Amino acid sequence: MPFHSLDDFDVAGKTVLVRGDLNVPMEDGVVSDTTRIDRLAPTVTELLAKGASVVVTSHFARPKGKRVPSMSLRPVAEALQEALQRNVTFAEDCIGGPATQAIRAAGAGGVTLLENLRFHAGEESDNATFATALADLADIYVNDAFSAAHRAHASTHAIAKLLPSAAGRNMQAELEALDAALGNPDHPVAAIVGGAKVSSKLKVLENLVSRVDFLIIGGGMANTFLFAKGVSVGKSLCETDLAGTATEILAKADAANCRILLPLDASIAPEFASVANPEAVAIDAVPSDQMILDIGPDSAVTLSNALRDCRTLVWNGPMGAFELEPFDQGTVSLAQTAAALTKEGGLVSIAGGGDTVAALNHAGVAEDFSYVSTAGGAFLEWMEGRALPGVVALEEAYAA
Ligand code: AMP
Repeated sequence: MPFHSLDDFDVAGKTVLVRGDLNVPMEDGVVSDTTRIDRLAPTVTELLAKGASVVVTSHFARPKGKRVPSMSLRPVAEALQEALQRNVTFAEDCIGGPATQAIRAAGAGGVTLLENLRFHAGEESDNATFATALADLADIYVNDAFSAAHRAHASTHAIAKLLPSAAGRNMQAELEALDAALGNPDHPVAAIVGGAKVSSKLKVLENLVSRVDFLIIGGGMANTFLFAKGVSVGKSLCETDLAGTATEILAKADAANCRILLPLDASIAPEFASVANPEAVAIDAVPSDQMILDIGPDSAVTLSNALRDCRTLVWNGPMGAFELEPFDQGTVSLAQTAAALTKEGGLVSIAGGGDTVAALNHAGVAEDFSYVSTAGGAFLEWMEGRALPGVVALEEAYAA
């Protein structure tokens, strides 16, 4: 691996600054979903077991460089305490006197949670002085926040130049899974890209056509491709102005020997709303007063069969308006096939992005995928083939 992991440092008696992503959903001042905390906990627990004192740091929401009391990380300290099953001391500021005093109060082998990094403008501007103030708190830096790795911020980027730096277990698992999917995958590789619009995933599609063997395009974005091929999509969501771009992507895929698979049939409805018995029609028979809200049953079978020939799958975006039953059927059917193939051992399946995680949870198969990334922006930027500053910083620290 081109970065250090927790295996590479003797942390006994040392203070380790762990950058997590504790930007968790909160309702009425209480953490309502602990997924991110639970994913961070193993790194903290391992460091404590090896004799380190741990200082956890994170951003929360967008206070834009000002102290905003409603964006305090204080309520997260309690949830972190529960996840770790040990006392967590909260520091009223992430640098300076309040931070050092809290770390001292936590004592050797203790855990401190620092206040929101983004209360300081230096965090988002990747400011060297702010990074130095953070680095002054610890002997070793561990980044366990893949979901913040697409930002060059002081706590994800500048700090890695100032302290011995390693990836935490969550970051490591994420990078290993991503490498297995697109870095160094077993072929044939399939990608499933869905969701509402081509415009939000143009760079993803452009990158994938040169890296995968099959590109399955579904969801609203498939309509733009169908329209570009001369198919009439009725009232469906469609970015007609991107028809030229869609045609270019199809040509690039052809040149790169990437087979693009579009829906062969569709589940339709007169408007964006649930219906009891949706009609399924061939893709070239969508009436002008109807809209495509899901791939149809024939597509679900054909696309599932295409997955059976593949060794690796990377997935972002639903095949239809999965929040509106029964237009979840296409997504659920493909997700179940991918999960079953993974369980049988024939497929490495990696999925990521907010809606995709929700869709796989809805299908009840998230646990059966090889890896599900909870990172949104970072996962998409990785699918675009972009270097992530937080990962580059760890690689540079390793090479230095
Ligand atoms: P994204 O955030 O780009 O992954 O898009 C996810 C959204 O795309 C979901 O809210 C779906 O309801 C929506 N979506 C998927 N397929 C369609 C479709 N055929 N028509 C309209 N919206 C869709």
